[in-house]
Amino acid sequence: MIINVAIDGPAGAGKSTIARAAAKALGFIYVDTGALYRAVGLYALRAGIKPGDAAAVGAALENIKVELSFINGEQSVLLNDEDVSSQIRTPEASMAASDVSAIPAVRAFLFDLQRDIAKKNNCIMDGRDIGTVVLPHAQIKIFLTASPEIRAKRRYDELIAKGETVEFKDVLEDLIKRDYNDSHREVAPLKPAEDGVILDTSGLSLEEAIESAIRIIKERTE
Ligand code: C5P
Repeated sequence: MIINVAIDGPAGAGKSTIARAAAKALGFIYVDTGALYRAVGLYALRAGIKPGDAAAVGAALENIKVELSFINGEQSVLLNDEDVSSQIRTPEASMAASDVSAIPAVRAFLFDLQRDIAKKNNCIMDGRDIGTVVLPHAQIKIFLTASPEIRAKRRYDELIAKGETVEFKDVLEDLIKRDYNDSHREVAPLKPAEDGVILDTSGLSLEEAIESAIRIIKERTE
């Protein structure tokens, strides 16, 4: 039987780090769906299209091919055959992703790709609407969260470690704005699945959060 784990939650809750580590420990593939929205956002930025312009982004979709490849369990995202895995990580691409993700045509465009991967693989898929929309039948659903300040601090540390020059207050502001966008949009808003488990990582170390996630998954699959 194929096992699907859905991990949703706001930006900076630790989804990708926790999902990646748990997937490794369990021998599952880890699918980061945010990368798909980021790739579409990056396309819009490069093409000079406003990421919030639903008509223009919708019309551009026919020129966009987004694919995920997995090499040794590591995901790469390809935008029209170019590996853009690192280019999608800038603050501009984050905000563009949040804008394009509110466009129903974009969500529909990326839907089958996510479904198909989950159908064929034991996977942990993270995003905003995985447990509620993409994989409503996932055996395990976890909603990961933490306070905005803690999430912004983690994001800030990550960006600084990568050598980016950013201010903490800008990271916090961006994050609060993205949270608002993600939870107030009409299609697939960010919210916990009714049959999911909420895991608040505010008071947990990374190791503790990973252990908790693995425990939740094991409890429900064994
Ligand atoms: O998770 P990450 O920060 O990479 O996601 C980038 C943006 O893509 C999010 O702010 C959100 O707006 C959007 N997203 C989404 N649905 C998903 C994953 C990401 O709307 N399943």
